[in-house]
Amino acid sequence: MKVFYDESADLNLLKGKKIAVIGYGSQGRAQAQNLKDSGLDVVVGLRPDSPSRDLAERDGLPVMTVAEAAASADIIQILIPDENQPAVYREEIAPHLTPGKALGFSHGFNIHYGQIVPPPHVDVFLVAPKSPGPMLRRLYAEGRGVPGLFAVHQDYTGQARGLALAYAKAIGLTRAGVFETTFREETETDLFGEQCVLCGGVTALIKAGFETLVEAGYAPEIAYFECLHELKLIVDLIYEGGLTEMRRRVSNTAEYGDYRVGPRIINDYVREEMRQVLKEIQSGEFAREWILENQANQPVLKACRRREQEHLIERVGKELRRMMPWLGQK
Ligand code: NDP
Ligand code: MG
Ligand code: MG
Repeated sequence: MKVFYDESADLNLLKGKKIAVIGYGSQGRAQAQNLKDSGLDVVVGLRPDSPSRDLAERDGLPVMTVAEAAASADIIQILIPDENQPAVYREEIAPHLTPGKALGFSHGFNIHYGQIVPPPHVDVFLVAPKSPGPMLRRLYAEGRGVPGLFAVHQDYTGQARGLALAYAKAIGLTRAGVFETTFREETETDLFGEQCVLCGGVTALIKAGFETLVEAGYAPEIAYFECLHELKLIVDLIYEGGLTEMRRRVSNTAEYGDYRVGPRIINDYVREEMRQVLKEIQSGEFAREWILENQANQPVLKACRRREQEHLIERVGKELRRMMPWLGQK
């Protein structure tokens, strides 16, 4: 896959243009600050009573309402939670999308599943850092950058791709390198990853291991350390050096057990289920369910959240983490 670095991107495409960053949360704050420090003209769009307003002003950024920011800017980067984007787009952004403006995203969900349908006379691109906002900001400030993705959904001006690359450069991504993708690929792989591996897969694996040990009569505290607490050590090794490095650093016993048992746990049944989940993402079935869930004010999300918080592993964990007060002191 081709990697794009600083020299493939031209910041001049953004000079003389105003960029509105809508939202000042994890991504909004980091992207707005990086854009500003790259010498660009940035405004932040927030709701009138927003608790984020003070922070943005203290960071030296002009704050306007979302509608004012959208009206005054040439490029509008939407960085509020994905569930809130369609309504805010419809009411406060769409009316100001005059021909030749550009609309940017850091996640493709709303465009890919048709929850936001921009008029044909604007550019629509995606620039997605592969890190949370605070890390994006910290590395930029250190003169480095995190890798990222970019994609073009709609190219009205003929410059959308250049614009996306310039935006990626301005927030520091081309220092590390960016890959070109599509809204479809970014959205579907993101949903699949969080459902099957990162969030759904990992939490279910932790709970299943914990429950199996507790059911067999082992102490929940011991089960917590083995199945949850120690995961961080393993993930850090994998993150830094891949699977090989992790396996080199654990004992030979652990490594042998890994090869022997891993494929029995993540077996053909699990793989078949993963393919099924992917189909539901590709068909839009998951998206429809999630969109309706939001329209109903998230009843399933709230019920699951409550039930999961009461799980034994959470109660035991709370006590055990008291013994490790250094955790989470960032
Ligand atoms: P956050 O949840 O951190 O965004 C919160 C911000 O959005 C706050 O400033 C909040 O303002 C504002 N906001 C919320 N609702 C509204 C509304 N109705 N009208 C106006 N402003 C509103 O978002 P993230 O940074 O996590 O995500 C932004 C986008 O980036 C998403 O598309 C996400 O998928 C994507 N992304 C996120 C990553 C991450 O690391 N978090 C990584 C890569 C992509 P207020 O103070 O008024 O509530
Ligand atoms: Mg995601
Ligand atoms: Mg062990």
